[in-house]
Amino acid sequence: MPVQSRNTRQKEAIRAAFVEADRPLSHDEVLSAAQATVEGISIATVYRNVNLLVEEAWLVPVELPGSPARYEVAGKEHHHHFKCNDCGKLFELQGCDVQVKPRLPRGFRITGHEFFLYGLCAACGA
Ligand SMILES: [Zn+2]
Ligand SMILES: [Zn+2]
Repeated sequence: MPVQSRNTRQKEAIRAAFVEADRPLSHDEVLSAAQATVEGISIATVYRNVNLLVEEAWLVPVELPGSPARYEVAGKEHHHHFKCNDCGKLFELQGCDVQVKPRLPRGFRITGHEFFLYGLCAACGA
């Protein structure tokens, strides 16, 4: 088995953090998760690797107004997110069964939608 460089181990730990969490993560959340596997990993390293993974199209940013940037693994089907107002975590909702019927001006046509839900997660609402 080839010996992995520190850089490779850091990048692998960051990818593993996203796969294991299975929800969008902020840089700080990635840092906490990666610290468990790679001792002394820094926030600068997390930023650098997240940027690399976005360039490689392995991660995509999840835009959320008024919140720090979060990222999730690319290539998922259309879905939405739920933000817990208490712990601040962002969760992924499966699929989309949302029926939005806005009143559109004449001649307008909807080609997609984007929104997120918020409230309390199970842990915070208990
Ligand atoms: Zn919560
Ligand atoms: Zn949808």
